[in-house]
Amino acid sequence: MKNDKAVVVFSGGQDSTTCLFWAKKNFKEVEAVTFNYGQRHVAELDCAREIAEELNIPHHVLDMSLLNQLAPSALTRDEDIVQKDGELPSTFVPGRNLMFLSFAGVLAKQIGAKHIVTGVCETDFSGYPDCRDVFVKSLNVTLNLSMDDEFVIHTPLMWIDKAETWELADQLGAFEYVQEKTLTCYNGIKGAGCGECPACELRQRGLDQYLERRVGGDTE
Ligand SMILES: [Zn+2]
Repeated sequence: MKNDKAVVVFSGGQDSTTCLFWAKKNFKEVEAVTFNYGQRHVAELDCAREIAEELNIPHHVLDMSLLNQLAPSALTRDEDIVQKDGELPSTFVPGRNLMFLSFAGVLAKQIGAKHIVTGVCETDFSGYPDCRDVFVKSLNVTLNLSMDDEFVIHTPLMWIDKAETWELADQLGAFEYVQEKTLTCYNGIKGAGCGECPACELRQRGLDQYLERRVGGDTE
């Protein structure tokens, strides 16, 4: 893998930024791709651009506004973020990862990258069907068949929880960076965020757990 090139599906959030650092460690060349689909906050795109620039990573921003046309959700409209029992959260954009990974595959083909890295995760599964491992594996086969190639989709976060994602960032020497520079908050506030939306709560809970474990580990 060390001599290969990888494309990271990159949003500027905690997970994909951690994946970016992971890819930098594991591949010779890394490029990032961000999809513009009318996110609630332009801050998200700015944040992704800033990180890619700081880390010196070639950055592709692709227009995916058609996704917003097809599937308005709370991520793209100014709607409240809600999750009713037994239903997918209102942040769900049907087919999002299918399209993102497919377009990342087309880009990978164009720039001669064999590897595609995505931060999808089945552990903190909010019920998104296209975050499941079985979906990613299936799409990997489809991509290879469609372009007669041998792409490998990597999912470094698939089986770890939010606390372990912080741990991974720490191991990669990116703990402070991810804490300060990434944007996960649904209200568009960088770093620790608004502290109130579901994304901030999930992020903070993971961070607290990790810090507890780290302190516990240090004193043993
Ligand atoms: Zn927030």
